[in-house]
Amino acid sequence: MTRNHIYSHTSAENALDRRSVEMDFEIERIAELVEGEKARVIQLQFPEGLKRYGPDVAKRIRQQIDVTVLLSGNPCYGACDLDYDGDVDLLVHFGHAEIPALAAQKVHFVEVRSDVDVIPVVNEALGLIKGPRVGIVTNVQHVHTLGSVRGCLESAGLQCSIGSGDGRIKYPGQVLGCNFSSARAVDVDEYLYIGGGAFHALGVALATGKRVVAADPFLHRTSIPDADLIVKQRYALITKALDARTFCILAGTKTGQRRLDLAFELVEQAVKRGYDAYTVTINELTPWTLYQFPAEAYVNTACPRIAIDDASLFKAPMLTPIEFEMVLGKRDLGEYTLDEFLGG
Ligand code: SF4
Repeated sequence: MTRNHIYSHTSAENALDRRSVEMDFEIERIAELVEGEKARVIQLQFPEGLKRYGPDVAKRIRQQIDVTVLLSGNPCYGACDLDYDGDVDLLVHFGHAEIPALAAQKVHFVEVRSDVDVIPVVNEALGLIKGPRVGIVTNVQHVHTLGSVRGCLESAGLQCSIGSGDGRIKYPGQVLGCNFSSARAVDVDEYLYIGGGAFHALGVALATGKRVVAADPFLHRTSIPDADLIVKQRYALITKALDARTFCILAGTKTGQRRLDLAFELVEQAVKRGYDAYTVTINELTPWTLYQFPAEAYVNTACPRIAIDDASLFKAPMLTPIEFEMVLGKRDLGEYTLDEFLGG
């Protein structure tokens, strides 16, 4: 993934730092787990916005308990991406909630919840909410605030719903950049998204086709993401890809991003229709890692947000599998559907 993606996906963590919010890295709990598991070697994995805290957290763990602590230096953007192998007794993954459907073994998740007060920005968002039926969604950093957000909205006469997601979502109201099942689970007129940055709020708008009011409690800012602009950009890329004859189908190798069967199926469908198509397995998807794999268009079966958020970085159109089906004529061009990792 790329810089744009890094920025957008970790904006909340960056914002946490900007506001000097004290973060709970659960040092005592990690020491207990190390003792209980009799772990000799552990690895700590932080998303980009929290990585710089790694050396200090490692030191604090070693002060508590005798254990070898490794820091993952690889990029990390989500709980879909677990960086450990057989040499490590326990992986401690910071900044994300577990994805239940992945049933990861030997991994402890430290969510690093935010203690920022969200109510002032929710009060401000009331001026933008039309209602009357509002779905409340957030990322894991603020899921514990949803009860008080609901109270605030209901006091203003709005009807609130907080939906439960599918097997990839741990908490009611929580969304991931690739899964908006908790938003779709409720029948509402619009959504209120609580959290930093535009990444998740834009995803809710694209996935539901409904208006979203985004309330950023770190910057105390409200906004309405423009999903129509992104949809127009996607159709421009789809139109460009209609002229392509050679497609490179990308199959991600990160733990929770694997869709190799889908990649094979897409290659088969393309070849059947007379196109050239080949599959590349890939861990980090960037313009540089694609350099040796020329194609007139790419199809990304890994993290769905790379195609959307990093589109401008790639020289050739980077399509989602759903968009590729439009290009192949398998799917109607008329209705835009966001690619998501659903189920489990
Ligand atoms: S696959 Fe989902 S959880 Fe993983 S980095 Fe992409 S948006 Fe985030």
